Formats: sequence, structure tokens, C-alpha cells
Amino acid sequence: MNRFPTRCVHAGTMHDDVKKGINSPIYTSTSFEFIDQKDTVYPRYLNTPNEKAVAEKIASLENAESALVFSSGMAAITTVLFSFLGNGDHAVFQKGLYGGTSHFLDREFKRFGISYTVADSQSVEAIASCIRDTTRVVYIETPSNPLLSITHIKAVADMARKAGVITIIDNTFASPVNQQPASLGIDLVVHSATKYMGGHSDILAGAVAGRKELMEEVYQTGLNFGGSLNAMTLYLLERSLKTIHVRVERMNHNAMEMAHFLDMHPGIKQVNYPGLPAHPDHEVAVSQMKGFGGMLSFEVEGVGSIEFQKKLKLIKPSISLGGLETICCSPAHTSHRHLGPEGRKAEGISEELIRLSVGIEDVEDLKEDMEQALQAS
Ligand code: PLP
Repeated sequence: MNRFPTRCVHAGTMHDDVKKGINSPIYTSTSFEFIDQKDTVYPRYLNTPNEKAVAEKIASLENAESALVFSSGMAAITTVLFSFLGNGDHAVFQKGLYGGTSHFLDREFKRFGISYTVADSQSVEAIASCIRDTTRVVYIETPSNPLLSITHIKAVADMARKAGVITIIDNTFASPVNQQPASLGIDLVVHSATKYMGGHSDILAGAVAGRKELMEEVYQTGLNFGGSLNAMTLYLLERSLKTIHVRVERMNHNAMEMAHFLDMHPGIKQVNYPGLPAHPDHEVAVSQMKGFGGMLSFEVEGVGSIEFQKKLKLIKPSISLGGLETICCSPAHTSHRHLGPEGRKAEGISEELIRLSVGIEDVEDLKEDMEQALQAS
């Protein structure tokens, strides 16, 4: 098998038999001839040529047997969960989930007779203690959003396998460049491909990769739920994935520099970045990540998060993450707003917390912007 950067460029690329172009052709049709064809091809059946090209690349990058691409990260997450959970089933979730995922559980699970427990920490013991006879799924997310806590992936995968429970991980923050959970024993890996996979803040997409027999279930549920992606966006995603290793390696570097800069700064109260040796989960991060990613969070001493973000000039207060440009947000006002002050307190998310998605700019410009904002505050 080729090495990772080579697979980013080449895996899954469709050969253009007609004109010999070097890139995958784009098939925009929603109607495909059926007579004398092996499969009925239709975009919602997740089987168009562009869907297959991107899915094959993602499976290769995740070291997984098979993959599917969806119209958003939430389409991927909800499809995969409903593929394995039904009336009477129970699921265990780690603490510190993406806000949209907790909102989904909170709002939808009860109506379908599915019960769930959120473990009170990210430790394997805490997660294991929530498993019951009816538990069918354990779901983790590491590094977590927005506190960048690390869950020990292999320990959770081993524990769940012994208990006969399917494991799912949200690998959005790490990206397959930094972390390949299928190689650590996780059954299914989900992504908001809107983030590092898309990488340019201009497409919405999702993906699931994992074991073939489980992916067959995801496929059947997926085509009923209808969250497929259109050909033009699939093409953009394929194009973006070719450079993911270069982008994410640069972001790893810039984020590490920013984490050190903020950590040393007297105006900063707290920095959360798994690459810092003082991070409580640093050793676990070293054992399972190739790089520590482009996400970090921090609190400014004595200044409100909105007030501080208004002082930034280059770094834009903006939602989402994983794009080329450095952006920041305050989770209390964005992704975790729906939790309310009590819910955020329980999750350890302060009102002052600022989350940074570090891009590929020259890191000295980013430091200068932070410095001037800190001085101005
Ligand atoms: N998972 C994580 C970690 C995310 O940050 C997001 C979006 O912010 C999602 C899932 C949901 O993805 P999407 O917005 O593409 O539906």
C-alpha cells in the first residue's frame, strides 16, 4: 500500500477512459441507464461514480475497509446512530461531545425509545461503568470540543469489544492525518467533512468509514434517510482531500506555536492543547496521535470573550473550523449556547473560553494579532 500523502493524492481517483484527463470526471446525472447495468445508479443510493471515488479515498485515509459520504457531518452521525439503535436500545456517550450531537440526542432519542448515558468523564472506566445489558453503541470524540480532552481510543475499543458493543468515534478534530482510529480497533469513524477534509470553509459534507459488515447497515439506513451529497460538492471534497496532509501538518505546526505563545503569555489564564506537555492527557495524545491538530482553547485573564474577540484584526470571530484561515469563537455563545449556563458549568466550559481554529497563515502574523488584542484589552 502506498504511503499516506500518496494515498491523499491518488486513492480512489476515477480513470477518465474517454478523454484521459488526470482528474476524476464529474457525473452530475440523477438519471442513469439501467438496462444491462449491474447496479441501479442514483445519487440517493450513495453509489454514483463521484460518491464512490471520494468514499474510496476516505476509506484509504482512515485505514478502513469501506466508507460512505454524506451531505453533512450531522447526516453522517445521525445515520450511523440510527443504523444500530432502535426502540429499547441504550447507547453510551463520552463527556464533551460536539454541541450538535448532544442536541440531537437530547431532542430525538427519547421519541424513538432509545435511552443513553453520558459518562461523567472521558476515562475508559467511566465509559465502561455506563454499559448495561441493552447497550449497543459506545460513542467517543477525541480531541473533544472545545476543551481538547483526550480519550484513550484503544482502551475504549478493547473494552467495548469484550462487552460486545459497537464503537463509533467522531474523528473530525484530529482528521485522518493525525489519528486513524480504525487501526486502534474502533468499528466506525465519523467526520464532519465540512472541517479539515473540506478544508476551505466552502463545503458542507460528512463521512463514515469502518468495518465492511457494519458499513452495509449504514448504507441501508443511509439510503432511506437520504442525506447524500451532490456531484459538484463531492468533486470539491475529492480535490480538497488531495492536500489534507499538507494543510493539517502546517496547522499542527502553527497550533503548537500558538499554544506555546499563549501558554507563556501573562495575560492568558488557561490554554488547552494536547501538544503541551502540561496537558493532563498529553501522554495518551502522544501514544495515539501523529500530530496534535489545529484546535486549541484558552481564557484571557479578566476580559470577557466577546470583548477580547472584537479586538482581533486578522483572526476572525467566526463559527466552524478546519479552514485555511485562523478563526475563533466563544463556545458559550455558539456551539454550546443551547446547554445554558448550568449545562456548560457541568461540562467545564466557562463563559470566557475562546476556541481557536488555527489556519495555515504565517504564525508570526497570528501571534502579532493576538499580542495587539491582548495589549488593547
Ligand atoms: N462533529 C464535530 C466535531 C463538529 O465540530 C461538527 C460541526 O461543527 C459536526 C460533527 C457536525 O458537522 P456538520 O456541521 O458538517 O453537520
